[in-house]
Amino acid sequence: MKLIFLGPPGAGKGTQATGVSTKLNVPHISTGDMFRSAIKNRTRTGLEAQRYMDNGQLVPDSVVIDMVRERLAMDDCKNGYLLDGFPRTVEQAEALEGIASPDAVINIAVPDERLLSRLTGRRVCGKCQGTFHVSKLADEKVCPVCGGELIHRDDDKPETIKKRLSVYHDQTAPLIGYYTGNGKLKTVDGDNRPEDVLKAILASLE
Ligand code: AMP
Repeated sequence: MKLIFLGPPGAGKGTQATGVSTKLNVPHISTGDMFRSAIKNRTRTGLEAQRYMDNGQLVPDSVVIDMVRERLAMDDCKNGYLLDGFPRTVEQAEALEGIASPDAVINIAVPDERLLSRLTGRRVCGKCQGTFHVSKLADEKVCPVCGGELIHRDDDKPETIKKRLSVYHDQTAPLIGYYTGNGKLKTVDGDNRPEDVLKAILASLE
């Protein structure tokens, strides 16, 4: 199955994508994670992406589309994929139609006021990539799953979050209309417990 997870930053796309990709046995492809890994490895793509990410802006379409095209050509995508964080513009969605058109698009909806508190309190493990909220952590710096170091992403700081939300509304939200138009959109309420959101997503795919 070829799936897309759509939703504002902080909607829980990454967390849900991990559960759903395991269940459906398709690779979880997060363009944000791909860029963060490219930055860590100081590749050309990483260096180019970093200045946009640091400002809460989108990386140019041509850079993202080439990276996703290469990734989807890999062997493990033969039986499908779960794309998390791509497409983020109508131009990216149109390019994807020419690469491997999705079967369904899950829109995880969460109101803006909830997203701000989720993102400012979000910590990500540098080792296992798990995502946690400070309110649920005994120690803000240590991953409760693997013991790795928890990181407060630079782009999860308040000013950058505001920018990312406005970029989402301007450039990514139009995809809701795009995928409603071709009958592929399924919206689930993301303002619930993660296990309930997962159930709602799986039910919408049946
Ligand atoms: P994420 O982890 O999905 O929130 O992505 C983090 C940052 O990576 C975004 O704020 C963008 O700067 C960049 N990024 C990730 N995916 C895309 C995309 N599909 N198009 C443009 N920029 C992206």
